Amino acid sequence: MSDDAYGQLLAASIQHLELLKARGLRHVAVQPQTLAALAAPIAAAARAASPSIRPAPVPAPASRPTQAPISAPVVAAARPPAPVARPVSSPVAAPPPPLAAVLTAPPVSPTPALPKAEAFAALRARALTCIRCPHLASSRRQVVFGVGDINARLMFVGEAPGADEDVQGEPFVGRAGELLTKMIIGMGLTRATVYIGNVLKCRPDTPGQPSGNRKPTTAEMQTCLPYLQEQIDLIQPQVLVALGSTAMEGLVGHPVAISKIRGQWQSYRGIPLMPTFHPAYVLRNQAMAIKRQVWEDLLAAMEHLALPISEKQRNYFLKP
Ligand code: SF4
Repeated sequence: MSDDAYGQLLAASIQHLELLKARGLRHVAVQPQTLAALAAPIAAAARAASPSIRPAPVPAPASRPTQAPISAPVVAAARPPAPVARPVSSPVAAPPPPLAAVLTAPPVSPTPALPKAEAFAALRARALTCIRCPHLASSRRQVVFGVGDINARLMFVGEAPGADEDVQGEPFVGRAGELLTKMIIGMGLTRATVYIGNVLKCRPDTPGQPSGNRKPTTAEMQTCLPYLQEQIDLIQPQVLVALGSTAMEGLVGHPVAISKIRGQWQSYRGIPLMPTFHPAYVLRNQAMAIKRQVWEDLLAAMEHLALPISEKQRNYFLKP
């Protein structure tokens, strides 16, 4: 384990123990092997130190991704008239509704010195050992970083891993994931040719509950958001599709009524963003009108990407 990772783990352990102490807990059970493993890096560092045998300093936490400002508003724009390479936001006369504020900080590559694949691998490695949210780091099975082509033109953004994703380490693998996969195939694409990621990379914990999922908090999503922003900045997709109100909330930092903004192009970090319903909502609702609305949003994304659209595709979920 690197010094940085060890330092982060140590800091998180101390933070967690202090939390337990504040709650009144006085004793915790620790296996002797665990104590030995914790002590090993310190002993090694002491051996490697100067003859003065000063204890090795605890390394500072690894540098964190810089979170771009989240203030610049962008108005919801009409659908793009023709496929173009970049943003589609145009001002409208009416005062912008509060729901229309979307992040638009220009894309900035955080690791310009590295080739894309290496930068992405480094970002992934950083996320996989992340413990910024000690309560999630201690309850997760694994970090669910994202899946797909890092050169994808289309990127889907969900909210957070659920129980299935936590087990498999891949976003959108449960029932909602199966539906998303069908939707992607319906577009003439595959999961391997798009990129799928979540705002939150760790499953929201459910203390005291043996099963079930919970909605991530705004604070949790804002803590994790820089990872997604770096993914977006590196991938540079031509279209983003946000799945559901919570994903949108994670992106903009405040609650969003997805039913009001779905189907309306937004802009996120300079990239056209199409908000639509979460596949889980479609599964719960099952109304043909909802399915058609989601499909229309995906058709808009396809048009923007200049993907071929057959008559059959155009007519999905329309009444005969
Ligand atoms: S949710 Fe994100 S920020 Fe929090 S511990 Fe997991 S990877 Fe780190």
